[in-house]
Amino acid sequence: MKRIGVYTSGGDAPGMNACVRAVVRNGLYNGCEVIGIQHGYEGMIEGNFVDLSARSVSNIIQRGGTILRTARSEQFRTPEGRARAAAQLEKAGIEGLVAIGGDGTFQGVVRLIEEHGVAAIGVPGTIDNDLFGTDFTIGYDTAVNTAMEAIDKIRDTAASHDRLFYVEVMGRDAGFIALDVGISSGAEYVAIPETRTNVEALREYLENYKKVKSSAIIIVAEGEEEGGAFSLAEKIKDTAGYDYRVCVLGHIQRGGSPSARDRILASRMGLAAVDALLEGQTNVMVGDIHGKIAYTPLLETWSQRKALDKDLWRLARILST
Ligand code: ATP
Repeated sequence: MKRIGVYTSGGDAPGMNACVRAVVRNGLYNGCEVIGIQHGYEGMIEGNFVDLSARSVSNIIQRGGTILRTARSEQFRTPEGRARAAAQLEKAGIEGLVAIGGDGTFQGVVRLIEEHGVAAIGVPGTIDNDLFGTDFTIGYDTAVNTAMEAIDKIRDTAASHDRLFYVEVMGRDAGFIALDVGISSGAEYVAIPETRTNVEALREYLENYKKVKSSAIIIVAEGEEEGGAFSLAEKIKDTAGYDYRVCVLGHIQRGGSPSARDRILASRMGLAAVDALLEGQTNVMVGDIHGKIAYTPLLETWSQRKALDKDLWRLARILST
């Protein structure tokens, strides 16, 4: 394999740049050329390609976002769009791909592999940490730290005003961010999509908390089934006895300089993705399982559900009393 294409797709995540850097430098180290595909699948369809040298990825390991840009592409969801993308790859002589993104990105690349015989390796780049086949995704650690720091600040206001805060964090389908943020910020309650939120029981908890705690923080994952922080707050309203406020952290969780942990994870995964392509692997995602690099068929990364750690859930419940 002589030419490798790399792209970032779906939501940006801190550490994507560190991963691109690792792909480029390991590709060059192994005598390959590395081509950056800009704006994800949209750029692939348009032939938006750029040669990447070792120096072109200097000074990016510390930067959030993605220098390759990212995009959502409706065209790529159609067979015609993918055929155009495959033709562009062939024209540019790109023989293997490193796809950095989440489950949507992987579903797209699997279609490209099956329909056009392209070789590709997935790298989990998403703050949600919701992919099966890896303990951590690139960007997750930074997002948790960003949310935790924001909640530390909210805590000051909550304590000063004797208030209850409902803080909504990202996580449409999974409560990984919410649970880790809840534990690390000492939240009084965590509401996540994986478990049913019993509104009555929560109201009761809060009424009891009010007798001993003048302020409280409830972390709500955006995909929580009661409809998110505003909706949950509205359902409990004044009955719990607290004056309350709602704060949605939103996109602040996506940006920022990646943590050391994300930079290292991204570097390891980028290196491993190129190694895998050169070994002849395809249609797998690079993951980190118990601290070791592991490869999982791409299909399994979204068709199998990654389980939430029950011990962490128990820990959050016990320590919030
Ligand atoms: P995040 O987890 O951060 O949202 P993601 O990779 O899941 O990232 P998506 O927007 O779901 O982000 O997917 C990125 C792109 O992948 C889509 O815009 C689309 O072009 C392509 N894609 C997603 N699902 C499919 C599919 N089933 N078939 C073909 N292409 C797809």
